[in-house]
Amino acid sequence: MKAADMTSEPIEIVDVIAHPLQQNLPVPTVTSWGTYTTVGMVLVEVRTRCGLVGVGETLGRFAPKAYAELIHTALRPRLLNQDARDIGRLWASMRRALSGRSGGMLIEAIAGVDIALWDIAGKAAKQPIARLLGGMGRTEIDVYAAAVNWGPDEQADRELRRYLNEGFTKIKIKLADPVRDAIKRVERMRQQAGDHISLCVDANWAYDLDDAVEIGRALADNGYFWFEEPLAPENEQGYEELRKRCSVPLAAGESNYTLDQATRLLSRRTLSILQPDIARSGGFTETRRMVDYAAAHGVAYAPHIGMSGIICETASIHLAAAVPNFKILECECDRSPFKTLLADLEPGCLRQKNGVLDVPQGPGLGIEIDWDAVKTLRAE
Ligand SMILES: [Mg+2]
Repeated sequence: MKAADMTSEPIEIVDVIAHPLQQNLPVPTVTSWGTYTTVGMVLVEVRTRCGLVGVGETLGRFAPKAYAELIHTALRPRLLNQDARDIGRLWASMRRALSGRSGGMLIEAIAGVDIALWDIAGKAAKQPIARLLGGMGRTEIDVYAAAVNWGPDEQADRELRRYLNEGFTKIKIKLADPVRDAIKRVERMRQQAGDHISLCVDANWAYDLDDAVEIGRALADNGYFWFEEPLAPENEQGYEELRKRCSVPLAAGESNYTLDQATRLLSRRTLSILQPDIARSGGFTETRRMVDYAAAHGVAYAPHIGMSGIICETASIHLAAAVPNFKILECECDRSPFKTLLADLEPGCLRQKNGVLDVPQGPGLGIEIDWDAVKTLRAE
């Protein structure tokens, strides 16, 4: 089919292939959950009869082969012979592959397919996804460095200095137990960074309400710009109470799969910043719904990237470029091979200059996958 025909003719899906990948991280990530040395993901490839190929990413850190199996057995049959651009209809069909409330592996699996379908839609229209989404038309966006790991002081100092040397002006610090050590870390990082650098923290659910109030006080005293995931995501009442007792903006959302899991904290404006991960929260389709709902309630959007690959990062950049309530993008500096080897685009941590990152302008996601690298990085 000629490109000129693509606007009217169906773009028929002829195959869906999930590639489970697993690799060691060059630098272990250390959070309140522990130390991560290996990481997985699933690259989703959607092929069409006219030759267009879309790629997406499913967040599958710990069992990428199980996610790939889910995509092949539960989602692929619902996609074959369908028009790749009927994304909303296909999303609803995939949602019905498993019963029960929305969430978990199913929505993460759908995310990978959804991103690939948007990639196809962009390639068919010869437009970057950011433009296809309509909106703000940004060509560059603000980023912050993630993260200074939870480790010995000397290591934290070293990591902070590295980010400063690389030109970042906004940096995230990981916190964990015990509270006394966390408060010392908050103070130490502020002293080391100076007053002109913006700092925030991520606790990855480390605290109960009383501990979080205490940490919140230290963050306010030291001028931090957000307090991320202080409590477990299910503890919505705790977040509401903390909101009353903590003057630092609260950020969360990477643990929410769908909009319904975020409505309470958004509609009451408990959160100041929503951080969905596009490779977890059902891809562009569901993440955009979450971000729009956040905008309607005066809540900003700051994409979560994490130990992901270049597809998740690039998809997040496109959505960030398009929506009015975008605040800042997480620039994960783990130098995961999924970020550095998988495509022809360098990861954000290497492309950014002075905390600003360009938005790819090619059709779709604007990246070309290195299929030899996909073979090399495959989960054994
Ligand atoms: Mg986080």
